[in-house]
Amino acid sequence: MAGHKYQAPRGTFDVLPDVARTRGRIERTAAAIFARAGYEPIATPSFEDTELFERGVGHSTDIVRKEMFTFEDKGGRSLTLRPEGTAPICRAYVEHGMQALAQPVKLFYVGPFFRHERPQAGRYRQFHQLGAEAIGTDSPIADAEAIGLLADLLAELGVPGVELRLGSLGSLDARQAYLEELKAYLRAHETELAKEVRERIDANPLRAFDSNDEGTRAAMAAAPKLVERLEGEDADHFAEVRALLDASGVEYTIDPTLVRGLDYYTRTIFSFVCDRLGAQSEIGGGGRYDGLVEQLGGRPAPAVGWAAGIERIMLALDEESPAPGRDVFIAVADEESEGRSLALILAGELRKAGLSAEVDLGGRGLKGQFKHADRIGARRVVILEGGGAQLRDMSSGEQRPVDTGDLIAEITGGQA
Ligand code: AMP
Repeated sequence: MAGHKYQAPRGTFDVLPDVARTRGRIERTAAAIFARAGYEPIATPSFEDTELFERGVGHSTDIVRKEMFTFEDKGGRSLTLRPEGTAPICRAYVEHGMQALAQPVKLFYVGPFFRHERPQAGRYRQFHQLGAEAIGTDSPIADAEAIGLLADLLAELGVPGVELRLGSLGSLDARQAYLEELKAYLRAHETELAKEVRERIDANPLRAFDSNDEGTRAAMAAAPKLVERLEGEDADHFAEVRALLDASGVEYTIDPTLVRGLDYYTRTIFSFVCDRLGAQSEIGGGGRYDGLVEQLGGRPAPAVGWAAGIERIMLALDEESPAPGRDVFIAVADEESEGRSLALILAGELRKAGLSAEVDLGGRGLKGQFKHADRIGARRVVILEGGGAQLRDMSSGEQRPVDTGDLIAEITGGQA
């Protein structure tokens, strides 16, 4: 009986080698940029207590209301596959007493995240984010630095058509008065709003700015905007962030309608969008979250950070990463096993010297081995035959005897 054929679950995908290569490049580029800016790597578990996200991300957000993969473990405890990385890192910051370290603590991460969203291009149920957090500073320099790092990353990767949108939500206290004003406006325009927005006027009025509904969008055009209501220290902070970005040559546009899908943001918020992406045009974004650490049981520690979607970066890059080929393939002409074991030993030596080298694993004859060497893009083939060896250059076809003891020198000396 034929076995059942399985497929990756809906909204998930396999990362095949040509995609994995691009992903490797993105991750290495990011790690180098972070290291140069003094950000240290951190990794947290793939699942956490459900409560962490309910408290951290916020009960009224889409993420917590309907997108979490939540399950009960055998002890009856509610766990959730992490939908985002900031709350877990703040949990780790508090749990491991990182407040005692030199502040701010600057961290970066990369890994899988999970949201039960409707799958479409650029939106998956398991996706990958890389992100940065600077915890323990309220300096606008930290905001500008964090934004600059993401701008640098996208530029260094060569992501085309990127635009930065910037906004500010003010501090939590100052926001209250504005939210009352906004709710009053939304109630006055209730009939023009989408049902979803109408139902959440009290719970999450800011999300009205994020609606795709035509009527709602039209109604929101004239709604009061938070950036226009900023006062005192909030206004000063925002002005400084803008001045620092201007001074460092990071281009942006102020977007008074910018909101984010997580409740913890305060003051600066930003979003990098890309015109090569369809409906899911955001490549990465983030902002300041001055109250989150305290909300998760720590001493107050203002912070700023962002996350970028690796799949979205790859969609925007739309690049092919062909297999890199091999420096050497070692072919064995004779059937006897000494030749095969010598091939493996030589391959080991070449690899130790930093070259890529392969041997036949398919029991092929010499002709088959040449064909295979060609298919995997080997630049040279060493042929072991009757106790001797030949070195063949695959592009010129030139072939000459070689002493196996001199192989590395022959090849690295560029004489092959
Ligand atoms: P967020 O954590 O919602 O602020 O999202 C940060 C970034 O993660 C976005 O800009 C996207 O690039 C990426 N992202 C968020 N949700 C998804 C998803 N469901 N599929 C793919 N990428 C996502």
